[in-house]
Amino acid sequence: MLKDWCTWDDDYNKIVQDIRGKLVELATKENGFSSVLMQGSGTFSVESVIGSSLPDDGKLLVLTNGAYGDRIAEIARRLKIDVAVNDSGERQPPDLEALRNSLESDTGITHVAVVHCETTTGMLNPIEKIADLVKAYEKVFILDAMSSFGGIPIDAAELGVDFIISSANKCIQGVPGFGFIVARRKELERCQGRARSLSLDLFGQWSEMEKNEGKWRYTSPTHTVRAFAQALGELEEEGGIEARFNRYCKNQKTLVDGMLALGFECLLPREWQSPIITSFLYPRDEAFTFQRFYAELKSRGFVIYPGKITTGDTFRIGNIGDIDPDDILRLIKAVKESMYWK
Ligand SMILES: *Cc1c(COP(=O)(O)O)cnc(C)c1O
Repeated sequence: MLKDWCTWDDDYNKIVQDIRGKLVELATKENGFSSVLMQGSGTFSVESVIGSSLPDDGKLLVLTNGAYGDRIAEIARRLKIDVAVNDSGERQPPDLEALRNSLESDTGITHVAVVHCETTTGMLNPIEKIADLVKAYEKVFILDAMSSFGGIPIDAAELGVDFIISSANKCIQGVPGFGFIVARRKELERCQGRARSLSLDLFGQWSEMEKNEGKWRYTSPTHTVRAFAQALGELEEEGGIEARFNRYCKNQKTLVDGMLALGFECLLPREWQSPIITSFLYPRDEAFTFQRFYAELKSRGFVIYPGKITTGDTFRIGNIGDIDPDDILRLIKAVKESMYWK
């Protein structure tokens, strides 16, 4: 990252092509997929897929159980795309019966979108079962795998996912600055002429990268891209997604065991919990405030997340990144020291 790279130079474009190939390999073992990198944070990539894949007469069904699912629906509304929403509430997985009913009764639906790990709560949505239904009804399937891609094994082709969306700074452990999409070539080709935005035109970006071998249409975040290439190398060194998944699972188990021992309670039952991020209920003590707890932890070198659910008081602790169970044990010690209300 300390070296400047030219956004149109061959050496740089080779790095981009290498990244694109590796992302496809991480997403599936089968052929027929390609990848596109897109400037901006993860949401820009989601917006690019929604805005470029739905035809004018298309209709999107969004299954939501949190803020990130809601965001997909909001993107569609802003773009004046016809959208139906099945909301199962923040504490429940998507309702498969409701999904079947929607697909059966609303024949206008062309695309279905869902979040894999709903980062709002930490819930891991049952995408295999959702994918089975979406494919049975022959709809295009869009997966926001922002906080799971690279950290939880999936095979896009086996599942029947058409678009997988993620970003540089989550489970791949790069730095922020761009997102990416792994998609079926056939579906990318269908995006031609559909985009509702110039800069977020998924087909435009993809065809430029294909034709000019790694060239982005507009200035790309070169340093971030170089760091991402490094991060992919480190994922490989670690042993790939399976090894990373195991480390995250150990981190998350160490976290929950430690927090339960200190008297905290989790929002979700364990069987719905992802190994990525965990929501904890506020302690039932008048003296507790999140601000003070946060400050106490920060002064000990740990930064946690506020809650994001609308019903109930929670805070969240993420356990992805270059950390292992020893770091989590240090965190638990810091939490214990930060329990000023005890
Ligand atoms: C992080 C995240 C996003 C994208 O958020 P940005 O702030 O735009 O990077 C989208 N969906 C999910 C599930 C996420 O965890």
